[in-house]
Amino acid sequence: MPATAHTKTDRTRLAPSPTGALHLGNARTFLVNWALARQQNCQIVLRIEDLDSPRVKPGAIEQTIDLLAWLGMDWDQGPLVQSHDLEPYRHAMRSLAGRGLAYSCELTRGQIEDAASAPQEGVHETRFPKELRPPLRPVRFDRESTNWRFVCPEEVVEFVDEFRGPTRVLPSAEVGDYVIWTRRGQPSYQLAVVVDDHRQGVTRVVRGDDLLGSAGRQLLLYRALGLRPEPSYCHLPLVRGSDGRRLAKRHGDTRLTAYRQQGVPAERIIGLIARWCGIIEKPEPMSPEVFRRSLRIDRISCEDIVFSEEDERWLQARS
Ligand code: GLU
Repeated sequence: MPATAHTKTDRTRLAPSPTGALHLGNARTFLVNWALARQQNCQIVLRIEDLDSPRVKPGAIEQTIDLLAWLGMDWDQGPLVQSHDLEPYRHAMRSLAGRGLAYSCELTRGQIEDAASAPQEGVHETRFPKELRPPLRPVRFDRESTNWRFVCPEEVVEFVDEFRGPTRVLPSAEVGDYVIWTRRGQPSYQLAVVVDDHRQGVTRVVRGDDLLGSAGRQLLLYRALGLRPEPSYCHLPLVRGSDGRRLAKRHGDTRLTAYRQQGVPAERIIGLIARWCGIIEKPEPMSPEVFRRSLRIDRISCEDIVFSEEDERWLQARS
């Protein structure tokens, strides 16, 4: 695994979406990110990503923050809430549109799917077919209530992922021209992350490897907007259910709020995550401080983590 030298000016972010769905999988990613940052003198920004879901229920932001604190995490700046100021994202849109690198698009999902070839197995995203791209020209970003797409260059994006090593992705083949501004009058996840990571001085991104493809899309936006430095990436294997599928509702209620309500102590959740991260062989209750001191990224297995019924029984056990 390649080692990246980190300096005192390094910054990472905890970037929860306040959807009420902070579950064991997200908790693992946040806790690893937090522990590595605290070991390596890297600052932590807490950013609330409330733009990437259509409805944020009242109280959800406070609940998310409270859960991170309950697990023992702390941060140096924030919470910074994305929806509080959309101007930085508009600024980026004006720059891209003004250089012919973005265009408004009113096609419906059905129209795009009809024009696209059948998706490959395991690929859930529809690739936007290049034939649907209008002639490119510089335009004003003056219609916020329509989708805008980024003119995705046909470029292989290469980067050295801190966990996975050298990585290559090809966004033009995976998704084609992707949406960067949505007709809800807000930036899409891809644009918002790039603008925020840059303006908040984020130099390292640690998250689940379901977002590996997004790293390529985000790096292309960094380059199109002329933003530097590009962050380093560390994509961790996902937590899955015993059927091999990504941890979700079908595997039972693994939301942290549910465990907390049932009286499961945070130390048990941390202990389970410690086993998943190769710190201990059998789960045992662990404090956030011990987790922080003991975590070694090279002990984390490259295999996906499986959340088993035995794990659930252990969490629920009273001893
Ligand atoms: N808000 C996203 C999540 O909660 C994280 C996005 C990212 O780390 O780039 O899954």
